[in-house]
Amino acid sequence: MIRTQGLTKRYGAVRAVDSVDLDVREGDVFGFLGANGSGKTTTVRMLLGLVLATGGEIELLGDPMPKAAMTVLPQVGALVEGPAAYPHLSGRANLSLLDAAGRGTRTRGRRARVASVIEQVGLDPGDRRGVRTYSLGMRQRLGLASALLRRPRLLILDEPTNGLDPQGIHEIRELLLELNRAGTTIFLSSHLLSEVEQLCTRVGVLDRGRLVVQDDMAALSGPTGRTVVRTPDAAQAVRLLTAQLVSADGDRLVVDDGDSAAVNHRLVSSGLRVREVGPERRDLEQVVLAASSQERRAQDHVVDAGVVRS
Ligand code: ATP
Repeated sequence: MIRTQGLTKRYGAVRAVDSVDLDVREGDVFGFLGANGSGKTTTVRMLLGLVLATGGEIELLGDPMPKAAMTVLPQVGALVEGPAAYPHLSGRANLSLLDAAGRGTRTRGRRARVASVIEQVGLDPGDRRGVRTYSLGMRQRLGLASALLRRPRLLILDEPTNGLDPQGIHEIRELLLELNRAGTTIFLSSHLLSEVEQLCTRVGVLDRGRLVVQDDMAALSGPTGRTVVRTPDAAQAVRLLTAQLVSADGDRLVVDDGDSAAVNHRLVSSGLRVREVGPERRDLEQVVLAASSQERRAQDHVVDAGVVRS
């Protein structure tokens, strides 16, 4: 659905996006993670043809962008950095105008289409107030509603839950999962690890313009091959497991053995009490931190090598 090769954007000396090879497949909920300023918005804007790349290739739905924008973009719903809207008109009137712009004078079904997307995103269909009175969260919902008007095959969303309260975040997450179940591929950028962890099937991580991770969520959060034990008899357990012990923090021990049942058996048969035992799993935060620091070391190495050569 989205493929890029060597995608690069330079602003003067700044490489905002640096040789990014994205691979988003049909049916994915793809989380595009990165700290503030890592290049997410610039990438999203290039995908949609809003910013021209300095180098590299982009394919959206199998066609080259921005060359095929006229045929591709009608099949893509997008929400980038706060939607534009006429401030004095209501959300419904704004959506009707947008629908008219997309479909010309064909009005058939417009009222129903607009009502349906308003309902989908949880706005009040009877609200006649101008959009200028909307909160950031309501604007975000309106932006999402306009992205949904064309029933897109692919949704590209830049920080879709920006400005929403926890209840709003939950509702939008449920809506996106529902859309995905009905066949929409979703690409969303976020700086929130927890959001991506709860929503996404695949993840890409951007660090200072470079894609440092791209993999299935299941593979990233898989078992590490170690066991985590919680025991009230930590001191004795530490003595018993010394050779295999990775760390001990209060009642929590990490043991360099993937066979949790065997670790449990050793402890229990020595008369120690076990409160919890199971395989250690990486979380997304650990994956991101590890990949980013590895990338930094690699870049420092390049700089060092440059110094040596010069
Ligand atoms: P945020 O989450 O804060 O929006 P981001 O990951 O979306 O961050 P970008 O907005 O893509 O990051 O910015 C990446 C880098 O490119 C930053 O260093 C930013 O200052 C720079 N940048 C972005 N747009 C421009 C521009 N028009 N001119 C110059 N530099 C820019």
